[in-house]
Amino acid sequence: MPTDPVLVVHGGAWAMPDDMVEAHLLGVRDALAAGWRVLERGGAALDAVEEAVVIMEDDETFDAGLGSFLNRDGRVQMDALIMDGGTLRAGGVGCVERVRNPVRAARKILSESPHVYFVGEGAERFAAEHGIALCANEELVIPREVERLSEYQREAAKRGATEDGNDLFAPEISHDTVGAVALDRAGNIAAATSTGGTLNKAPGRLGDSSLIGCGCYADNLSAAVSTTGWGEPIMKLVLAKWTADRVLAGNLPEWAALEAMNSLKQRLNGHGGIIVLNTAGQFGIAHNTPRMAWAYRTANKEESGIERPPL
Ligand code: ASP
Repeated sequence: MPTDPVLVVHGGAWAMPDDMVEAHLLGVRDALAAGWRVLERGGAALDAVEEAVVIMEDDETFDAGLGSFLNRDGRVQMDALIMDGGTLRAGGVGCVERVRNPVRAARKILSESPHVYFVGEGAERFAAEHGIALCANEELVIPREVERLSEYQREAAKRGATEDGNDLFAPEISHDTVGAVALDRAGNIAAATSTGGTLNKAPGRLGDSSLIGCGCYADNLSAAVSTTGWGEPIMKLVLAKWTADRVLAGNLPEWAALEAMNSLKQRLNGHGGIIVLNTAGQFGIAHNTPRMAWAYRTANKEESGIERPPL
């Protein structure tokens, strides 16, 4: 019996100002449409999450691909992971600087490498050797981000803040990482997450997004999960796997998503958002930030918003 497909996407969780809401909603809806085109013609969940994430990487609204936050040196440095719940195959890239769509490189790793994870120059070399054209880092840098970084650095200098100060991690600071989880007609789930990381991060810093089980996870036995938010607390809790384990234990994805956000807050005063989907098509969207951009589509419903949908 074929399963009815489901697709859920997110475009970051933070105190998104009113004047940025529309762009975020348009972005997540475009991503949803791209992923859904794959699912409705019977395509794989893995392809659907990849296509959805590519759209948001190309959309400069989000902190992924083009328009990513800049690191302390003014460079874009991106991380991404994609995972197939049917086989547990995964592909991840960390600290790539010359790949327009890190999720495409991650997908190549998943499909064409015996390895799971590549970083930096080696990841770029792998991508190039597998048909992904490299770009100059400058092509991913947009004026808005140059301005954002210099404003941040000016303010930090005034306050005498240290580079690892927690002032970086207030929920007002934008968290525009993108992600998607999907269920296909064959009953498989998949997840993908892509990010430019955090503003003014130290070069070489890796967040949760591309780490397996932290910012992304998928297993048909439990759930497909993608997170966004302050990466360090999410990593410490291995939050995507933590959440999937709760689904495996018999809890609904909705409940597991809420619990994950509560636990993130209670344990480490972390903030962020999460999407969770199981092979029965049940899903959860939760955040402990003021807003989170999300969209979902099922066989008979399509919705998007910037606050968690009511249970
Ligand atoms: N979680 C990402 C990171 O820490 C940032 C984000 O979600 O905006 O790299």
